[in-house]
Amino acid sequence: MASAVDSFRAYLRIKTVHPTPDYAPVGPFLASYAARGGFEFQELTLVPGHPVFIVTWAGADPAAPSIVLLSHMDVVPVDMGKWTMDPWGGALIDGKVYGRGAQDMKCVGVQYLETLLRLKGVVVDPSVAPLAAPPLRTVHVLFVPDEEVGGSRGIKPLLAHPAWASLNPGFLLDEGLASPSPSFSVFYGERKIWWVRFKATGPAGHGSRFVPHTAVQQLHKVLARVEAYHEAQREALAGACSCGKQLGDFTTANVTMLSAGNPDPKTPQFNVIPTEAHAGVDIRIPATVNLAEFKATLDAWCAVEGGGVTWEPLAQVCGEGPLMLANPTEPVEGPDAHWFRVFSGAVAAAGYSLHAPSIFPAATDSRWVRLMSGTPCLGFSPMRNTPILLHDHECVTRAPARSAATPSRTPNAHAHYPTLQRVFVGGGLRGGPCRIRQGTPRALLRRVVQKIGSTGP
Ligand SMILES: [Zn+2]
Repeated sequence: MASAVDSFRAYLRIKTVHPTPDYAPVGPFLASYAARGGFEFQELTLVPGHPVFIVTWAGADPAAPSIVLLSHMDVVPVDMGKWTMDPWGGALIDGKVYGRGAQDMKCVGVQYLETLLRLKGVVVDPSVAPLAAPPLRTVHVLFVPDEEVGGSRGIKPLLAHPAWASLNPGFLLDEGLASPSPSFSVFYGERKIWWVRFKATGPAGHGSRFVPHTAVQQLHKVLARVEAYHEAQREALAGACSCGKQLGDFTTANVTMLSAGNPDPKTPQFNVIPTEAHAGVDIRIPATVNLAEFKATLDAWCAVEGGGVTWEPLAQVCGEGPLMLANPTEPVEGPDAHWFRVFSGAVAAAGYSLHAPSIFPAATDSRWVRLMSGTPCLGFSPMRNTPILLHDHECVTRAPARSAATPSRTPNAHAHYPTLQRVFVGGGLRGGPCRIRQGTPRALLRRVVQKIGSTGP
């Protein structure tokens, strides 16, 4: 029988990579897990080519709200020139597993399933005794497509479908981030994504003349304001460390797209002043920021001489509603506080520590779950003592250029870093791939699932 680590590596070899993710092999991979554990297995196709898979362990009380363990199957593209090894090879070297999607979030999906196998006693693990009986609550392990591109073909249609209600979800665990320290990270909310297009219009003219308020000049002024705002937020974060605020508490605004003039490099038109210029800005707003005020800020940025700049949000991405639950550590009673108490209690009982729960700096499928179903969610990726190695726009820390986090020299180690995803599978791999010792993240998840599966309001 494949070890947990070998299964993880097999999952990494399935190329669920955008823009053409191949989800078909994931079905048999998960079905064989379900068969091993005697769990139910279901494939739902709400959008052709984008299946949802559900592994279910029926609880003793079918009416009790269930536990949903959510993970996405898709991964972001790879710049092959910046990898030192095959991103689809699942290499295991010195106790580290390499591959695109290792942290985000295939290791989490496999940990969910391995946890259930151990809780049921199908996989014998001396560290924790299996449950004597099925859990009180039904546990659904949910594998969805499309998270990396917004969820329109994944979690969103599922949330709108009767199949979601039939899961009867009471609490959901989704992805978080690896923690570089010995304490685990957990997230109770997210920043809002605002992808904003700025469009500037101005007069045409010859490139040899003084033409006032050209589209490019106007856009340039707006982007200078964007940059000044972004920089002020960066400085505020840098000065905030002692008060416990983190990246998720601040707004970032990165200019990620620019265009003006003839975009075809084969036929450049240096001497024509373009009448339109465009910029795309990736803005991430803490859930605590008043959105109406922020929209007024965008209006103010666009008020430049010439009067030709407008902005519009990319409607399918930009979040309007609340993307956070109440801070679970504050003395407010309710389901959020309850589930967090159970979760953190399980972590403590397993002998681990948690960082203070915080706002996730990027976006996950949990934002749709919170908005569309109101189910309490926590973001938790059980990896500690592990550098955060997600794809670039979610990368919140950077490892030194030469350290345990950088496996080998590459021509461009800095650019290489965010595109290489790795994971230390706890400390348990150091003795060899088959030895999973007590205290690995899976053992922790087992505690958590066991605890939350047996309690609740
Ligand atoms: Zn992810």
